[in-house]
Amino acid sequence: MAKGTIIIDQDCCKGCGLCPTVCPQHVITMEENLLNEKGYHPAVLVDPDGQCTGCAVCAVICPDVCITVFREVPAQRRSKTAA
Ligand code: SF4
Ligand code: SF4
Repeated sequence: MAKGTIIIDQDCCKGCGLCPTVCPQHVITMEENLLNEKGYHPAVLVDPDGQCTGCAVCAVICPDVCITVFREVPAQRRSKTAA
């Protein structure tokens, strides 16, 4: 399965809680112990086992475009690109 990761702009997040509900890998949670500069509890990635696939569903659902997705390019495709 593809590997990926995300960066959530914590100060952009309005704490709506949508992204954790759609993540198929269940690696996003709301940070209840932190307030961002807007005064909201932001979403955070908690993925110690590298389960994020880079599917980008979280980024698509985010109404404020706070999530950037990175996805590993498979080695096979990398070598074709390099040729
Ligand atoms: S990219 Fe996909 S798997 Fe990764 S955190 Fe977002 S919804 Fe979850
Ligand atoms: S969908 Fe966007 S605004 Fe809503 S909790 Fe997730 S990162 Fe924050």
